[in-house]
Amino acid sequence: MEGFLKVEHIGIAIKNIESSKALFTKLFGKESYKEEGVESEGVNTLFFQLGETKIELLEATQADSPIAKFVEKRGEGIHHIAYEVENIEAEMQRLKNEGFILLNDSPKKGADNKLVCFLHPKTTNGVLVEICQEIRNS
Ligand code: ZN
Repeated sequence: MEGFLKVEHIGIAIKNIESSKALFTKLFGKESYKEEGVESEGVNTLFFQLGETKIELLEATQADSPIAKFVEKRGEGIHHIAYEVENIEAEMQRLKNEGFILLNDSPKKGADNKLVCFLHPKTTNGVLVEICQEIRNS
């Protein structure tokens, strides 16, 4: 059994990527390395690398996207914690067998060259959990 390997990134919901880019660049003392839109999710993402862990800023690009709804309801702040796994399909099956509710039935293409799956916060003590696996070119 592989289980979760490490915290891959922490997702933070923000209102405006330009002002937050300036803020987090100042906070971390370093530049972001990637900005990427995920059209299917209605988000723009911005990534900072801090050692082994990344910080992902998430800005809604559509009024009805999950990030827009989150910011509307709860304001800006920590949105999810993402854990790296070796084999996302095997982990999804394991978590399903353990009684967790998965928000998608098969892995989705996420930002930063990842396959991702989210777990319902109802089954994880209120924390939105993402598992992700690097897309390998083979
Ligand atoms: Zn994420």
